[in-house]
Amino acid sequence: MKKKFTIAFVVVVLSFVVIMAHDKVFSLSKNNEKNDNYLTLKEKLKILGNINEKIDYFNTDYIDRYIKYKSTHPNKSNSNIVLEVNIGLDQEFYTNIKKSSNVDTTFVLVNKFNYLDEDYIPSKLETIDANYSLGEKKLVNVARISFEFLAKKAKEDGYNIRAVSTYRSYDYQTTLYNNYAKEDGVNNADQYSARPGFSEHQTGLAVDIDNVDNDYMHFENTTEFTWMQENAYKYGFILRYPKDKEYITGYTYEPWHYRYVGVDIASFIYKNKITYEEYYAKYIMK
Ligand SMILES: [Zn+2]
Repeated sequence: MKKKFTIAFVVVVLSFVVIMAHDKVFSLSKNNEKNDNYLTLKEKLKILGNINEKIDYFNTDYIDRYIKYKSTHPNKSNSNIVLEVNIGLDQEFYTNIKKSSNVDTTFVLVNKFNYLDEDYIPSKLETIDANYSLGEKKLVNVARISFEFLAKKAKEDGYNIRAVSTYRSYDYQTTLYNNYAKEDGVNNADQYSARPGFSEHQTGLAVDIDNVDNDYMHFENTTEFTWMQENAYKYGFILRYPKDKEYITGYTYEPWHYRYVGVDIASFIYKNKITYEEYYAKYIMK
């Protein structure tokens, strides 16, 4: 009888201890949650100096990232804090990735934060006039037409512009990237080649060019490059990976790679000397 009583007593005490411990842990985690979300939106906006009122591309969803980025980059202007976080530059390339929106339009943004599906093939892919391409090369309808206008005008002015790489399928990009990574290592390959799904060439809106006589890698030193610098935007094309913008685009300078965005956007980007990432984050992204 006494033994039974002792066992019952021990069970009651143990249960009590377990319940207390659980409550303690539970209340601790609850407190932590409360601390993380302690500041109200109004207080967070105040920390940022209410810059939301002055910057129309301010996105409340990113407010914690703005605060964190500002604390690690105190010398950046508020507009750059907001712009760079909107682009995703507070995170490493190829992290925090999301599926591209505006797919199958000339607005689509594909970069190291925004990818296309493995099975995505643009509609309206058309073959470029053989006079202006190396072998059979395809671009999306509007880009194909504009590229031919551009190349034709260049020819009239005495210059040769030829498409050497245009639309590339997901599978082709996989082979290309894997070969570079095997030869050169992943870190080096990432500087000049896109991982599959992250290549702008899969949109059918990007074109690598040469001047027929020199390899595209030497395009910068040709008179055709000078012509492109002065005229590409008039046909809706932008130099997609400019010099000194590597930290935004994630790619080293590529004088041969152009992207069709339409005449209005190309003219704006050309005149303001910005990248498509900056334009997109300011004017297209919601
Ligand atoms: Zn390219």
